[in-house]
Amino acid sequence: MNPFPLPSVAQSLILELICPIVVGETVPLEQALGRILAQAVTAQQDFPYWDNGAMDGYAVRYEDVATASVNHPVKLNLRGEVAAGKVPDHPVLPGEAMRIFTGAMVPTGADTVVMQEVCRREGDSVWVEQSPKQRGEFVRCRGDYYQADAPLLSAGMVVREAELAILATAQVTQVLVWRRPRVVLFSSGNELISPDRPLQPGQIVDSNQYAIRAFLQSQGAEVISLGIVGDRREDLRAVIRQAVDQGDLVISTGGVSVGDYDFIPALLTELGGTLAIEKVASKPGKPLKVAKFANGCVYFGIPGNPVSALVSCWRFVQPALQKLSGLAAPHAPTWITAQTQDFLKSDGKRETYLWGRLDFTLGTPQFHLAKGSHSSANLINLGGTNSLAMIPQGQTAIAAQALVKVLVQPRSPFL
Ligand code: AMP
Ligand code: MG
Repeated sequence: MNPFPLPSVAQSLILELICPIVVGETVPLEQALGRILAQAVTAQQDFPYWDNGAMDGYAVRYEDVATASVNHPVKLNLRGEVAAGKVPDHPVLPGEAMRIFTGAMVPTGADTVVMQEVCRREGDSVWVEQSPKQRGEFVRCRGDYYQADAPLLSAGMVVREAELAILATAQVTQVLVWRRPRVVLFSSGNELISPDRPLQPGQIVDSNQYAIRAFLQSQGAEVISLGIVGDRREDLRAVIRQAVDQGDLVISTGGVSVGDYDFIPALLTELGGTLAIEKVASKPGKPLKVAKFANGCVYFGIPGNPVSALVSCWRFVQPALQKLSGLAAPHAPTWITAQTQDFLKSDGKRETYLWGRLDFTLGTPQFHLAKGSHSSANLINLGGTNSLAMIPQGQTAIAAQALVKVLVQPRSPFL
C-alpha cells in the first residue's frame, strides 16, 4: 500500500474495492425517477403507433395534388373529418380529401397531409393551392421513430424526465431498477450532541450527521443512521460490526486520527477489515481510512471536522457510490476548468481544496474563493459555495485570473 497516495490514486484504489449492486427490484413508473435501470428496455410495438397527421389540414392522395399551385389550384371533394383520438370511418378515394387534425390517424387511401394554410374551403370542396414537397409530407408514419423490438434504453441509465417519457410511451409501467445502495452512517465523538440538546461546556453539535445524510440521499442512497457513538472502544466495536453487517457502505466521521481516543483504525482491522487506505495526500481529508470487509462492505472512516467530512464525501464517496449503484457511466467527481478571480494559496505539501463559487454566466467559468478562513473546522463559509478549487501537491499558489481545476459539488443525483 502506498502510505500516502494522491487523491486520484486513492480514488482508483477505492473504485477497485467497489462491486456494483446486482440485485434488482421492480418499481412503479411513478417512482422510477432517479433510479438506475437494471435491464435494457425494448420496444414492444412500433412508434408512432399508427400513421398520423403532423398538421391541421386535409388528408389527400399525393397524385391528386402533386401539381397544385396558386395559379393552378386543385379542387377536391371534401368528405368527412378525423380528429385526434378518432378512427377514420372511410377511406380517401381519388379526387377526395378528408379534414384532419394534428395527431389524428391518417385514413387509408390518403398518404399526405396538406396544411390548411395553403387550402381554400368552399362548401363541400377544398382548393389546394400548393403542392406538397413530397409524398408523405406532414404524415408521421407508423414506426418512423422506432419499431417493435428496437432497443430504447440500456441497463445502467438513470431514469430522468426524458427516460420516464420513453418508458411511458413504451407502456412500461413497472420498471426493473437496481436496488438503492444501503449506506450506514454514524458520528463518533464523546463531545457530540444532537442539535436539540442543551449545549454543555466542551460539547459540539453533530452537524456531520445532517450534512452527510443529505449528501447520501441526494446521491440516491438509502441511509441507515446509527446516530452518535462515544469514543468508547467497546461501543464502537459493536456499532462498527452492526454497520458492516447492514451496509454496502459505512460512513463514520471522527476518531480516525492519531489521538488516544481515535479507536476506529485499529477496530477496523481487529474486526476483519482490510485497510486499503490509511491516509491521503489531501487537504482537508488527510486521515481518511478505507477498509474492505469479507462480506463486500466498504468502510469509509472520515475525519470529523465538518469541512473535511463533506470534502471527503464529494471527493471520494461520490465516485464509490456511483460505481456501487450500477450506473453505466460513472462520472464523479465532475471537474471544470475555471478562471480564478482570487489568489489561491497552499502550503504545497498536499493536494489542497479551497471552497468557493463557480459562476457560469460569463464565457469561461469564473471561480470566486469563499471569503474568510479556509480551516477544516470552519464550516460557516462553506455555505453558498458550489465548488472546490484544487491546488496540486507541490504548488503553493495560483495567481488571480489564472486557470484552475475546480471540482463541482454534487447537487442532485448523477448530475
Ligand atoms: P476527530 O476527527 O474525531 O479528531 O474530530 C476532529 C474535529 O471535528 C473535532 O474538533 C471534533 O469535535 C469535530 N467533529 C467530530 N465529529 C463531528 C461531527 N459529527 N460534527 C461536527 N463536528 C465534529
Ligand atoms: Mg474525535
